[in-house]
Amino acid sequence: MDPLKALADAERKPYWLDSPAKPEPLARLFGETGADLAVVGGGFSGLWTALMAKERDPSLDVVLLEGRRVGWAASGRNGGFAMATLTHGIANGLERWPEEISTLERLGLDNLDEIGEAVAGYGIDCGYERTGELHVATEPWQLEEMNRNVGVARDLGARFDVLDTEQVRAEVNSPTYIGGHWERDGCAMLDPARLAWGLRQACLSLGVRIYERTPVRTMRDTPTSLDLITPHGSVRARKVALGTGVFQPLLRRLKHFLVPVYDYALMTEPLSAGQLASVGWHNRQGVGDAANQFHYYRLTEDNRILWGGYDAVYYNGGMIKPEYEQRDETFVKLAEHFSTTFPQLSGLRFTHRWGGVIDTCSRFSAFYGRSHGGRLAYAAGYTGMGVGATRFGANVMLDLLAGERTERTELRMVKEKPVPFPPEPVRSAGIQMTRWSIAQADLHQGRRNLWLRTLDRMGLGFDS
Ligand SMILES: Cc1cc2nc3c(=O)[nH]c(=O)nc-3n(C[C@H](O)[C@H](O)[C@H](O)COP(=O)(O)OP(=O)(O)OC[C@H]3O[C@@H](n4cnc5c(N)ncnc54)[C@H](O)[C@@H]3O)c2cc1C
Repeated sequence: MDPLKALADAERKPYWLDSPAKPEPLARLFGETGADLAVVGGGFSGLWTALMAKERDPSLDVVLLEGRRVGWAASGRNGGFAMATLTHGIANGLERWPEEISTLERLGLDNLDEIGEAVAGYGIDCGYERTGELHVATEPWQLEEMNRNVGVARDLGARFDVLDTEQVRAEVNSPTYIGGHWERDGCAMLDPARLAWGLRQACLSLGVRIYERTPVRTMRDTPTSLDLITPHGSVRARKVALGTGVFQPLLRRLKHFLVPVYDYALMTEPLSAGQLASVGWHNRQGVGDAANQFHYYRLTEDNRILWGGYDAVYYNGGMIKPEYEQRDETFVKLAEHFSTTFPQLSGLRFTHRWGGVIDTCSRFSAFYGRSHGGRLAYAAGYTGMGVGATRFGANVMLDLLAGERTERTELRMVKEKPVPFPPEPVRSAGIQMTRWSIAQADLHQGRRNLWLRTLDRMGLGFDS
């Protein structure tokens, strides 16, 4: 079907948030209150921080402040791939922290196991399935790059099946695949909005006070507290954890490390039994292709296909605007790529199209820190892979606030910061040059031009 026709009835809103499971809003904060710990942000980062703070010490008075609704931002509109990796993939981790990679891989797998346990323990109905991820190659150079780290990954305990053309197509049937890997333990599929709402409920059940539609406008440092000022009230907090993602940070220094990058996705209508049989997909893995500009896709519980990625758009000036959440040029491109990958599904329509903003940093994986004499901690920069890793980051924030030395806080990955982005307008020019170069690399067997090689040497990069 013509992509424009397939998109014609697609609603312009995130599929996951358009759900009857969406809870009623919680009250705004009116007046003054105090807290042992105030968490700012109601995405995965803030929700896990509040929840685990209460698990560590049930007597702690914990408040969570969310500017809009819990899970409305990236956390409720992503692909729903909860990955074990804490380093945006093993290749990036090996490149940056080779001496720590075995610890990082182990901590990442433990973290994903613990997410599964929390989902089961709190009875969170979010369609959690630990199906792993199928990495597929559509060109020989992609296969070579993928095969480079299989040995290391296996040595570190990852369960990797290397699949030839026939085997990969027996998993998911696309004429574009020439080979792949099935990383069996490294990823779980879930409904991200229902996870966020479930974590909200779990927080409430442990006594966290959550205020929605309560943006923190400023923070004031006093000798005894950090005061968070909201439109109709304030919180006098002994300690503060920031889980504010890519939004205007309350701590100015974070601005230098984060850029907002928009990522887009489509959702199809449910596949009929015949359509599903034509693609196979019996093991229901998440799928990602191995190009620099990659697609990610997966089945939902009712057998729709979420199809996203490819374009990672930075709008010059680095603003965050609601109108950036829709980009027809990208939606048409995505619909075309979908029909090339699954020609047997021609006739399938899309029901939803949406975008969301990602907190991208130059090392592609989160950074952590504290300020105000250890009374404030932050974690940000998940660069499009925060569904799983935000829980690890939440634990780091709680360790830092407790002043504890743990295996986590002693990591070089946790102690070091990414290379900052240059100020505008150099920032925009550099990022657009990088985006162009990445697209060129995909067109030329993955060959990286001088610009990308220079950035690689400087430890600077750009990704979704
Ligand atoms: C389209 C898309 C697809 C993605 N796919 C995947 C995927 O499949 N797997 C994966 O691992 N990752 C994916 N990601 C990334 C993932 O969604 C994020 O890494 C993760 O959700 C980040 O969580 P967070 O809590 O840090 O940020 P957010 O979800 O952005 O939450 C931050 C919250 O803080 C609130 N806030 C900010 N400032 C204030 C303030 N001053 N006062 C009060 N509240 C404030 C905001 O309102 C917001 O709710 C995707 C992202 C997008 C956009």
